[in-house]
Amino acid sequence: MSRKERIAVYPGSFDPVTWGHLDIVSRASRLFDRVIIAVAKNPLKKPAFTAAERMDMITRSLRGLPLGRPVKVARFDGLLVHYCRKVGARAVIRGLRAVSDFEAEFQMALMNRHLAREVETVYLMPDQRFVYLSSNLVKEVARLGGELDAFVPPFVKSRLLHRKDRG
Ligand code: ADP
Repeated sequence: MSRKERIAVYPGSFDPVTWGHLDIVSRASRLFDRVIIAVAKNPLKKPAFTAAERMDMITRSLRGLPLGRPVKVARFDGLLVHYCRKVGARAVIRGLRAVSDFEAEFQMALMNRHLAREVETVYLMPDQRFVYLSSNLVKEVARLGGELDAFVPPFVKSRLLHRKDRG
């Protein structure tokens, strides 16, 4: 290929991955040559699932998903812009839901731009069915015994239920 590959990094906690995240992945895969889903270890957020478990749930959820171009799952630690430089990515993908996401995302995008001018943050909006969906909400619904099919793929649902059984 003569033209340089366009690589995008989609970072997040994915604790666990939801149909909302997967909707964004699918859209990004139609815009870029390669998308890397970068799973943050995130010790600050005290995730419910380990990074390995979160990566496994994403990998399984990608099977059968309509993807434009290859999507890879990786783990990252440290500064996002350092990771982008390491893998040669010029774009960071983030999902934008309700207005409540805006403030924090704006801060993060401008800080990342300050740290690495060559990396652009691209926001994608999910299908409206997923606008109010978050991993935290899904964990809460799972804990209270609610129906999960509209929010997460089957394998993620079984992991959530298994986790609940463990207490
Ligand atoms: P983080 O801890 O980095 O916010 P998340 O896993 O919560 O990690 O989210 C990763 C990215 O996915 C963020 O850009 C977030 O806005 C986006 N996202 C999360 N849920 C949805 C959803 N339902 N629809 C669209 N984007 C989403």
